[in-house]
Amino acid sequence: MAGASVSGLPSILFPTRQISDRIEAMAEEILRDPRIDGKFEQVLVVCALNGAFVFAADLLRAFAMRGGNFKVGFLKLSSYGEGTVSTGTVTMKQESTVDPAGSVVLFLDDILDSGRTLQFALKHLREQGATDVVSAVLLDKAERREVAAQADFVGFTCPDVFVVGYGMDYAERYRGLPYVGILDESAIAAEKVGI
Ligand code: 5GP
Ligand code: MG
Repeated sequence: MAGASVSGLPSILFPTRQISDRIEAMAEEILRDPRIDGKFEQVLVVCALNGAFVFAADLLRAFAMRGGNFKVGFLKLSSYGEGTVSTGTVTMKQESTVDPAGSVVLFLDDILDSGRTLQFALKHLREQGATDVVSAVLLDKAERREVAAQADFVGFTCPDVFVVGYGMDYAERYRGLPYVGILDESAIAAEKVGI
Protein backbone atom coordinates (compact mmCIF):
# COMPACT_ATOMS: atom_id res chain seq x y z
CA MET A 1 0.00 0.00 0.00
CA ALA A 2 1.45 3.37 -1.00
CA GLY A 3 2.79 5.29 1.95
CA ALA A 4 2.18 2.47 4.42
CA SER A 5 4.37 2.79 7.47
CA VAL A 6 6.63 -0.13 8.29
CA SER A 7 7.83 1.35 11.56
CA GLY A 8 5.46 -0.93 13.49
CA LEU A 9 7.02 -4.11 12.12
CA PRO A 10 8.50 -6.52 14.65
CA SER A 11 12.31 -6.51 14.70
CA ILE A 12 14.00 -9.30 12.73
CA LEU A 13 15.35 -12.31 14.63
CA PHE A 14 15.60 -14.87 11.79
CA PRO A 15 15.46 -13.30 8.33
CA THR A 16 13.52 -14.83 5.43
CA ARG A 17 16.61 -15.94 3.50
CA GLN A 18 18.17 -17.63 6.51
CA ILE A 19 14.92 -19.52 7.13
CA SER A 20 14.57 -20.69 3.52
CA ASP A 21 18.19 -21.88 3.40
CA ARG A 22 17.72 -23.78 6.64
CA ILE A 23 14.46 -25.38 5.44
CA GLU A 24 16.17 -26.74 2.31
CA ALA A 25 18.95 -28.22 4.46
CA MET A 26 16.44 -29.65 6.96
CA ALA A 27 14.47 -31.30 4.15
CA GLU A 28 17.63 -33.12 3.07
CA GLU A 29 18.49 -34.14 6.64
CA ILE A 30 14.96 -35.45 7.27
CA LEU A 31 14.79 -37.41 4.00
CA ARG A 32 18.05 -39.15 4.96
CA ASP A 33 16.66 -40.26 8.36
CA PRO A 34 16.59 -44.08 8.39
CA ARG A 35 12.98 -44.04 9.62
CA ILE A 36 11.98 -42.11 6.48
CA ASP A 37 14.54 -42.92 3.78
CA GLY A 38 13.21 -45.74 1.58
CA LYS A 39 9.78 -45.65 3.25
CA PHE A 40 8.24 -42.67 1.46
CA GLU A 41 4.96 -44.56 0.83
CA GLN A 42 4.38 -44.90 4.59
CA VAL A 43 5.14 -41.31 5.58
CA LEU A 44 2.40 -39.05 6.91
CA VAL A 45 3.39 -35.45 7.69
CA VAL A 46 1.31 -34.08 10.57
CA CYS A 47 1.32 -30.29 10.89
CA ALA A 48 0.45 -28.83 14.31
CA LEU A 49 -2.09 -26.07 13.93
CA ASN A 50 -2.11 -23.24 13.93
CA GLY A 51 1.46 -21.98 14.10
CA ALA A 52 3.29 -24.59 12.02
CA PHE A 53 1.35 -24.06 8.79
CA VAL A 54 3.97 -21.86 7.09
CA PHE A 55 6.89 -24.06 8.21
CA ALA A 56 4.99 -27.12 6.95
CA ALA A 57 4.16 -25.48 3.62
CA ASP A 58 7.80 -24.62 2.92
CA LEU A 59 9.16 -27.95 4.15
CA LEU A 60 6.58 -29.92 2.12
CA ARG A 61 7.58 -28.09 -1.04
CA ALA A 62 11.25 -28.82 -0.33
CA PHE A 63 10.34 -32.51 0.18
CA ALA A 64 8.28 -32.64 -3.01
CA MET A 65 11.17 -31.28 -5.09
CA ARG A 66 13.26 -34.17 -3.74
CA GLY A 67 10.68 -36.86 -4.53
CA GLY A 68 8.92 -36.87 -1.13
CA ASN A 69 5.24 -36.50 -1.98
CA PHE A 70 3.91 -37.43 1.41
CA LYS A 71 0.41 -37.62 2.81
CA VAL A 72 -0.40 -34.58 4.95
CA GLY A 73 -2.63 -34.26 8.00
CA PHE A 74 -3.30 -31.51 10.53
CA LEU A 75 -3.62 -31.74 14.29
CA LYS A 76 -5.02 -28.77 16.18
CA LEU A 77 -3.39 -28.24 19.56
CA SER A 78 -3.50 -25.33 21.94
CA SER A 79 -1.41 -24.33 24.92
CA TYR A 80 -1.27 -20.54 24.73
CA GLY A 81 -4.78 -19.15 24.31
CA GLU A 82 -4.48 -15.45 23.49
CA GLY A 83 -1.52 -14.56 25.70
CA THR A 84 2.25 -14.69 25.49
CA VAL A 85 2.71 -17.26 28.26
CA SER A 86 1.82 -20.95 28.02
CA THR A 87 -1.16 -22.02 30.12
CA GLY A 88 0.73 -25.21 31.03
CA THR A 89 -1.92 -27.58 29.74
CA VAL A 90 -2.19 -28.80 26.17
CA THR A 91 -5.62 -29.34 24.70
CA MET A 92 -6.40 -31.09 21.46
CA LYS A 93 -8.96 -29.08 19.52
CA GLN A 94 -9.02 -31.49 16.58
CA GLU A 95 -7.50 -34.92 15.96
CA SER A 96 -5.29 -35.52 12.93
CA THR A 97 -7.29 -35.04 9.76
CA VAL A 98 -5.58 -38.17 8.37
CA ASP A 99 -5.53 -41.42 10.41
CA PRO A 100 -1.92 -41.99 11.57
CA ALA A 101 -2.39 -45.76 12.11
CA GLY A 102 0.32 -47.73 10.28
CA SER A 103 2.18 -44.61 9.17
CA VAL A 104 5.63 -43.25 9.88
CA VAL A 105 4.55 -39.84 11.16
CA LEU A 106 6.69 -36.75 10.74
CA PHE A 107 5.25 -34.31 13.29
CA LEU A 108 5.93 -30.63 12.59
CA ASP A 109 5.60 -27.76 15.05
CA ASP A 110 6.69 -24.16 15.03
CA ILE A 111 8.35 -23.87 18.46
CA LEU A 112 9.52 -26.28 21.11
CA ASP A 113 9.17 -24.37 24.37
CA SER A 114 8.23 -26.14 27.65
CA GLY A 115 8.05 -29.37 25.64
CA ARG A 116 4.49 -30.16 26.68
CA THR A 117 2.96 -29.82 23.21
CA LEU A 118 5.54 -32.14 21.64
CA GLN A 119 5.26 -34.66 24.45
CA PHE A 120 1.46 -34.64 24.15
CA ALA A 121 1.48 -34.93 20.36
CA LEU A 122 4.02 -37.77 20.19
CA LYS A 123 2.11 -39.79 22.80
CA HIS A 124 -1.18 -39.18 21.01
CA LEU A 125 0.17 -40.15 17.58
CA ARG A 126 1.70 -43.35 18.98
CA GLU A 127 -1.56 -44.22 20.72
CA GLN A 128 -3.32 -43.71 17.39
CA GLY A 129 -1.11 -46.41 15.87
CA ALA A 130 1.75 -44.56 14.18
CA THR A 131 4.56 -47.09 13.68
CA ASP A 132 7.24 -44.44 14.20
CA VAL A 133 7.09 -40.78 15.07
CA VAL A 134 9.80 -38.37 13.92
CA SER A 135 9.61 -34.74 15.01
CA ALA A 136 10.85 -31.48 13.53
CA VAL A 137 10.46 -27.94 14.86
CA LEU A 138 11.49 -24.66 13.33
CA LEU A 139 12.58 -23.13 16.64
CA ASP A 140 13.85 -24.65 19.87
CA LYS A 141 13.78 -22.55 23.05
CA ALA A 142 16.05 -25.09 24.70
CA GLU A 143 16.50 -23.19 27.96
CA ARG A 144 12.75 -23.20 28.68
CA ARG A 145 12.21 -26.94 28.73
CA GLU A 146 10.02 -28.17 31.62
CA VAL A 147 9.40 -31.75 30.54
CA ALA A 148 11.69 -34.24 28.82
CA ALA A 149 11.00 -33.64 25.14
CA GLN A 150 13.45 -33.30 22.30
CA ALA A 151 12.84 -32.82 18.60
CA ASP A 152 14.71 -35.03 16.14
CA PHE A 153 15.27 -32.04 13.84
CA VAL A 154 15.59 -28.37 14.81
CA GLY A 155 15.74 -25.38 12.48
CA PHE A 156 17.24 -22.85 14.90
CA THR A 157 17.89 -22.55 18.60
CA CYS A 158 15.83 -19.58 19.74
CA PRO A 159 16.49 -17.18 22.63
CA ASP A 160 13.90 -16.86 25.38
CA VAL A 161 11.81 -14.11 23.76
CA PHE A 162 8.25 -14.12 22.44
CA VAL A 163 8.43 -14.39 18.66
CA VAL A 164 5.92 -13.83 15.88
CA GLY A 165 5.81 -14.25 12.12
CA TYR A 166 6.37 -17.14 9.71
CA GLY A 167 3.08 -18.65 10.92
CA MET A 168 3.39 -17.64 14.56
CA ASP A 169 0.96 -15.21 16.09
CA TYR A 170 0.27 -12.83 18.87
CA ALA A 171 -3.53 -12.86 19.42
CA GLU A 172 -3.92 -14.25 15.85
CA ARG A 173 -1.95 -11.44 14.22
CA TYR A 174 1.49 -11.39 12.53
CA ARG A 175 1.23 -14.94 11.09
CA GLY A 176 1.87 -13.59 7.58
CA LEU A 177 5.22 -11.94 8.31
CA PRO A 178 7.82 -13.65 6.07
CA TYR A 179 10.45 -13.63 8.84
CA VAL A 180 10.61 -14.52 12.54
CA GLY A 181 10.49 -11.34 14.55
CA ILE A 182 10.31 -10.00 18.06
CA LEU A 183 7.34 -7.96 19.09
CA ASP A 184 8.19 -4.97 21.24
CA GLU A 185 6.43 -4.31 24.51
CA SER A 186 4.42 -1.39 23.12
CA ALA A 187 2.82 -3.60 20.43
CA ILE A 188 1.82 -6.10 23.12
CA ALA A 189 0.43 -3.31 25.32
CA ALA A 190 -1.45 -1.78 22.34
CA GLU A 191 -3.07 -5.13 21.54
CA LYS A 192 -4.19 -5.51 25.15
CA VAL A 193 -5.99 -2.15 25.17
CA GLY A 194 -7.33 -2.71 21.65
CA ILE A 195 -5.44 0.07 19.82
P1 5GP B 1 5.22 -25.86 24.63
O1 5GP B 1 4.06 -26.80 24.76
O2 5GP B 1 6.49 -26.51 24.17
O3 5GP B 1 5.41 -25.04 25.89
O4 5GP B 1 4.80 -24.76 23.62
C1 5GP B 1 4.85 -24.96 22.30
C2 5GP B 1 3.84 -24.07 21.62
O5 5GP B 1 3.77 -22.79 22.24
C3 5GP B 1 4.26 -23.82 20.20
O6 5GP B 1 3.60 -24.73 19.36
C4 5GP B 1 3.79 -22.41 19.95
O7 5GP B 1 2.51 -22.45 19.40
C5 5GP B 1 3.69 -21.77 21.29
N1 5GP B 1 4.80 -20.83 21.51
C6 5GP B 1 5.89 -21.01 22.31
N2 5GP B 1 6.69 -19.94 22.27
C7 5GP B 1 6.11 -19.05 21.44
C8 5GP B 1 6.48 -17.75 20.97
O8 5GP B 1 7.52 -17.15 21.30
N3 5GP B 1 5.61 -17.16 20.09
C9 5GP B 1 4.46 -17.74 19.67
N4 5GP B 1 3.70 -17.08 18.82
N5 5GP B 1 4.08 -18.99 20.09
C10 5GP B 1 4.90 -19.62 20.96
MG1 MG C 1 1.71 -24.11 18.30
